[in-house]
Amino acid sequence: GRPIAEVAREIGMDESRIVKLASNENPLGMSPAARRAVMDALTETPRYPDNDGYALRQALAAHLGLPADWIVLGHGSSDILEMAARALLSESDSCVYSQYGFIVYQLAVQQAGARHIVVPARDYGHDLQAMAAAIEPSTRLVYLANPNNPTGTLACAADIAAFMEQVPPDVVVMLDEAYVEYLDPGLRTDSLALLRKHPNLVVSRTFSKAYGLAGLRIGYAAAHPALADVLNRVRSAFNTSTVAQAAALAALGDEDFLRRAVDVNRAGMAQFVAAFDALGLRHLPSHGNFVLVRMGDDEQAGNRINAALVKQGVIVRPVGNYGLGPWLRISVGTEAENARCIDALRAALAA
Ligand code: PLP
Repeated sequence: GRPIAEVAREIGMDESRIVKLASNENPLGMSPAARRAVMDALTETPRYPDNDGYALRQALAAHLGLPADWIVLGHGSSDILEMAARALLSESDSCVYSQYGFIVYQLAVQQAGARHIVVPARDYGHDLQAMAAAIEPSTRLVYLANPNNPTGTLACAADIAAFMEQVPPDVVVMLDEAYVEYLDPGLRTDSLALLRKHPNLVVSRTFSKAYGLAGLRIGYAAAHPALADVLNRVRSAFNTSTVAQAAALAALGDEDFLRRAVDVNRAGMAQFVAAFDALGLRHLPSHGNFVLVRMGDDEQAGNRINAALVKQGVIVRPVGNYGLGPWLRISVGTEAENARCIDALRAALAA
């Protein structure tokens, strides 16, 4: 999206009054421990980063209960998603992903010049049976986001496990868990147990969301060492910075911050859902830190209401690029930010 400063200038509002709920960022900022680690790491920046991210990979390995050679670092998990396409797809190959799947899948497949097999969604979420059935002999990679962005839909653990049983062993499944920290433990897929069973599975995660480090660009993959090695072979040298590695290491250790982030998200989601219900707006139950809400029945409804929100200094995300023109995606912010957004929405709908 456009920089906040530019929107502020355009509508003549002080930049500090703009509310941005457009990119599923953490409204609490970053953990104080991560902030301190960033300041300390700045003195190291004349030197190149540790290309292997030794300390962070060790910490992640301990956190996940996996050996360190199962971990690959990326500058954001987008980097991991792209590495998989670079490593596995050529022009004669195909990649399966879902309608309304995270947009980076489409872009990564396009960059690789491979064929897209886009499987129609079911109730806005992944139709896993149809996705398994869509795999062709040319298919090398499947992308699967759980929860998915922008829909917030979640596939249950049993369905993911059953899906993995159906995928041929020479097809890699990228299970994208960018929002996993927001899930109640009872709703989670035990993806780490699945990893041990399936050498063709990659689990990707990020520090951009619940950990609040989106601007530093750091995420990771976990996979069997042979598959981790395949990803590492196409990883750019020094792809994660010293500062990002240090911040992620500190963030991983700050469980209090993570808990607060999850609590604020839960409360904010309830605030939005109550407001949407009161306004009579259809919305999809979301398992992430964002929610899709329907602004009307025509394809321009999302853009129309979005323009009215921007005029009031509230930035959310139209999702016409996903084929979801009637909808807007709103990221959950602080209570005050959510209230501003809800007020603006009420005014926009009444106009
Ligand atoms: N996967 C999903 C489903 C996402 O929504 C996002 C970001 O919005 C990402 C991956 C990538 O995030 P990052 O590259 O910041 O880790």
